[in-house]
Amino acid sequence: MRKKLIAGNWKMNGSLAANEALVAALRAGMGNAQCLVAVCVPAPYLAQVQQLVAGSAIDLGAQDVSQHESGAFTGEFSAGMLRDFGVRYCLVGHSERRQYHSETDVVVATKAQRALAAGITPIVCVGETLAEREAGRTEEVVKRQMAAVIHANGHCISEIVVAYEPVWAIGTGKTATPEQAQQVHAVLRSQLHAATEQAERMLILYGGSMNAANASQLLGQADIDGGLIGGASLKAPDFLTIIAAAG
Ligand code: PEP
Repeated sequence: MRKKLIAGNWKMNGSLAANEALVAALRAGMGNAQCLVAVCVPAPYLAQVQQLVAGSAIDLGAQDVSQHESGAFTGEFSAGMLRDFGVRYCLVGHSERRQYHSETDVVVATKAQRALAAGITPIVCVGETLAEREAGRTEEVVKRQMAAVIHANGHCISEIVVAYEPVWAIGTGKTATPEQAQQVHAVLRSQLHAATEQAERMLILYGGSMNAANASQLLGQADIDGGLIGGASLKAPDFLTIIAAAG
C-alpha cells in the first residue's frame, strides 16, 4: 500500500508573516495525518520555513533547482544548497517553468538527476496543454516527457515522485475528472513498470485545481497517490481538508 503525499506548491506567494501564520495553522490542525505532507516554498523563505516546520510531520520542498552543480549561473541555486536547508522534495519541470523559462524535457531530466544526486526527491511534473488534449495527444506528450527523465536517471528512476498536472487544469478551476486523471496515471504507471521493478511503490500525484471539495474523489482512484496543490495550499483549512482526505 502506497502512503499518499500531499504537497503544497506556494508558487510566488507568501511573506515572513504569512508563512508563519500558515505553517502554525497547519501544525495545529494536522493531528495525526496518515499521509506524507510537504510544502514547496519560494527559495528566499527556505531557511525560515525550515525552522517553522522543525519537529513536525511537514517536510520542506523547493520549487526548482539548477541543472548545474555550481559555478557562474547568476540567480540559480544548486541541489547541494537546497540540501543545506533540509529540503526533502524539489519540484522539477512544473509547467510554469516549462512555459515561462523554456525548460525542455532534457533540462527537466537533468534537474531531476541533480536533485537525486543530492539526496532530494524530485517531484517531476508532466502534463499536456489544452491544445494537445484536444488533438488527442495527451498520452504521447506525457510519455515523451517521462521518457526523458527515465532515460537520464536509469535505475534511480524509482526514487522520483511523478506529478501528472494537465496544464489546462492548473490555476484555472478546471479539474480533470477522476476518470480522466486515473487514465493518464495508469499510462504513466505502466511506462514506469517497463523501466523499473519498483513501479508499484512509486508515487504518482495529481495536480490541477485540486481542492477541498474534489480531493477525496480524485484521491480515491487506484493510481492517484496524492496531490500537488497550488492555490488551495495557501488556505490552511482547505489544505488540511485535502490532507484529511488522503488519510
Ligand atoms: C500547481 O501549481 O502545481 C497547481 C496544481 O496549481 P493549482 O492547484 O492552483 O491548480
